[in-house]
Amino acid sequence: MIVIDNLTVAYGSVQALTGVSLEIGANEFVSIIGPNGAGKTTLLKSISNVVPWQSGDIRVDGTSIRGREGWDIARLGISHVPEGRRVFGQMTVEDNLKIGAMSSRVDMAQIQGIYDLFPHLAARKHARAITLSGGEQQMLAIGRALMSRPRLLMLDEPSMGLAPLLVEQVFHHIGELFKSSSLSVLLIEQRATEALEASQRSYVLEQGRVVISGPSAKLLNDPAIQSSYLGITAKG
Ligand code: ATP
Repeated sequence: MIVIDNLTVAYGSVQALTGVSLEIGANEFVSIIGPNGAGKTTLLKSISNVVPWQSGDIRVDGTSIRGREGWDIARLGISHVPEGRRVFGQMTVEDNLKIGAMSSRVDMAQIQGIYDLFPHLAARKHARAITLSGGEQQMLAIGRALMSRPRLLMLDEPSMGLAPLLVEQVFHHIGELFKSSSLSVLLIEQRATEALEASQRSYVLEQGRVVISGPSAKLLNDPAIQSSYLGITAKG
């Protein structure tokens, strides 16, 4: 569905991505893990065309998206939940969901579908978003992104700043969402264990380059990944 082909991105003299190639298939759950500053967020921003790329290409269904506007990328079925759970704090939960729809006609059945997926939101539908917990705000940000009926949901560090119990809850919901839909998911995470457990395939980014990729279950058992990313050291 999406092919990233030899992508290179720089911010002035800072090289953020160098020759990155990867693919996300239809109804596939792919994660990207890697340390701080590895280029994970830049990769998502490149797909959303928030940052321009110097060379290489990104193709959706075989067509380059170079130079396309954000709304046009969304129209292709790509939805981006940025880092930091950006919700409209003074608006109610339900109004946040309504503005996620790309149409002015609100489909209440669709909103009910989001509530079925995230029961915590249903219970707080008339509350202002700012009063929600961090985990609930993350679910609202994901729910709002789903309102545009995407084919690919891109999640940038959904665990960031959440207490461990809430991280578990958010990952549980993301897993359920993937299982119950025909969505593709591209997840960016520093929490490597959770990301590898949730996804089918993964790429490891280091200093803007893909250094390892493969089935997530295989990477979870790879001693090099375990010692570098999962905090597991080999027994002597
Ligand atoms: P983190 O997990 O900390 O968000 P990341 O893997 O998402 O890290 P990026 O945020 O994509 O990494 O950053 C990749 C590199 O690009 C880093 O060296 C970072 O300092 C640099 N960078 C990111 N955004 C900018 C910017 N707006 N201007 C200049 N340099 C930037």
